[in-house]
Amino acid sequence: MVTSEYERRIAARFAGFDQDGNGYIDREDFMAAAKALLAEFGTAARSDKGQALYIGAEAFWQGMAGIADRDGDQRITREEFVNGAVKRLRDNPDRFAEIARPFLHAALAVAGGDAGVGVDDTSRVLRVLGVDGDVAAQAAAQLDTDGDGRIDEEEIVSAFARYFTVPE
Ligand code: CA
Ligand code: CA
Repeated sequence: MVTSEYERRIAARFAGFDQDGNGYIDREDFMAAAKALLAEFGTAARSDKGQALYIGAEAFWQGMAGIADRDGDQRITREEFVNGAVKRLRDNPDRFAEIARPFLHAALAVAGGDAGVGVDDTSRVLRVLGVDGDVAAQAAAQLDTDGDGRIDEEEIVSAFARYFTVPE
């Protein structure tokens, strides 16, 4: 059976969201992503940055569920992901950036501290969030357009939206 490049990409994006690999996306996956990020950067869940990340993860989940969970069972199946999330977000990438922004903002705070976020740390964030290793490293390097080794929130939000709103 021939799998198209588009189908392969969709499968990779779905797997990125389905952090525990049980075949559907739900709140637990977003909480797992937050937990993995905190572990990666050695940040306590009860710290201000840790709490902000969990709040962002909940908002991200609610936004995704609002777009994709057609039957309201609090799970996004692969079919709901493809027919709901991918199509609707492709038509409206700004919407995706909007629902992902609080989480990404908090993730960058966890990764970068007060001094901004470096290319390597941005690559680590993307990898923890399920972006393929090579893609994450390339994406992080490309984000640093002025070559100063730092990446800002606008750049990572739009890159994240581009990655997850797969062109057909
Ligand atoms: Ca899951
Ligand atoms: Ca559902």
